[in-house]
Amino acid sequence: VERDDDTHYFHSYEENDIHEIMLKDTVRTVSYARFLLSNPQILIDAIVMDVGCGTGILSMLAAKAGAKHVYAIEASGLAVKARENIRRNGFADVITVIQGKVEDIQLPVKQVDVIVSEWMGYMLLYESMLDSVLVARDRFLAPGGLMAPSQTRLVISAITGERTWKERISFWPSVYGFDLSEMQGPAFEEGLTEVVDKEEVVTTEAVVRDINSHTATIKSLDFHSTFTLRSTSSSEVEIKAFLTHFDTFFSPVSGEVSHIPLEEDVDILPFGDDEYERPVQPLDHSDKGMKVSFTTGPRGKYTHWKQVVFLLRKPIVLKSNQQIVGRFFCKKSPTNSRELDVEIHYRVVEGGNGDVGEGAYDVQC
Ligand code: SAH
Repeated sequence: VERDDDTHYFHSYEENDIHEIMLKDTVRTVSYARFLLSNPQILIDAIVMDVGCGTGILSMLAAKAGAKHVYAIEASGLAVKARENIRRNGFADVITVIQGKVEDIQLPVKQVDVIVSEWMGYMLLYESMLDSVLVARDRFLAPGGLMAPSQTRLVISAITGERTWKERISFWPSVYGFDLSEMQGPAFEEGLTEVVDKEEVVTTEAVVRDINSHTATIKSLDFHSTFTLRSTSSSEVEIKAFLTHFDTFFSPVSGEVSHIPLEEDVDILPFGDDEYERPVQPLDHSDKGMKVSFTTGPRGKYTHWKQVVFLLRKPIVLKSNQQIVGRFFCKKSPTNSRELDVEIHYRVVEGGNGDVGEGAYDVQC
């Protein structure tokens, strides 16, 4: 029997709840809206493809921004509702909803100028939807065409992990007077989707994967990379977990990426933090357009992606002059390509020696 990682996945997108959660995530939705509505030089008269249109929101934003035509591709049954939403808002002539996987569908045109998609999952790559977006790019994007978003980055840091430890580990030894410690195991084996307070972050951050939407390949999404985290505390700290989050960048210039050296503290987003709050401005047409970015990290506003916590069985004690060096491994799970297997191998160093530790995690959110 051929394995089927799609049926359950697409069924999950037929529920209203998930779309409501995504639409109410204003960091997410407003970032897409700001990018599309603030760059008429890209959208006016463009042929746009929306990969995974869901309710049709991004397609309608593209249409509102002046697109000549939008192909709204949706594999799940939600395509029917998207078509109705689009008709109700008067965009039926501009937006064509095509129900099917973007890998399989045919378009009435040869190529598109812009591909927009909200494909990001927990820990960025969970769901593996980026694979489908890259297939869409290779099948349909015109040379010099634009991918939105243009760049995403997976970032690691280390945290005290106090709260997660209390809720997921300390809870079990005394539950209504019973010791249920047998239940602790999974919390050490899975990435835990949680909101982490920024005060818990006690090291610098490091980029473990920097993805350029214009050039990335599916193969490159299984990866491993080294990282170094320096203590940001003036005293010794106990670290009970690693943390990942991701940042998303939209550039109006095809192929443009933002360069921040690895291991740099990415507190200040290169496209400007303050842009979160800035209202959409009319554009100076001599400009190349407006960049937009958002973070799902603990210093940013809440997003439905939260962050992902990887608890350590044995806490790291980090002195202020020490650093953690490690390697981050991430690949699709061999049993379900929509899930991820993550391993974090690390060592505490000062002058090159130190404790060695490692942990293997499944990300199944
Ligand atoms: N664009 C919408 C929905 C984003 S969720 C919004 O921003 O609110 C991602 C959507 O992509 C889901 O509805 C899912 O069913 C769809 N999807 C995922 N992979 C797909 C594929 N390969 N082909 C077509 N649709 C896909």
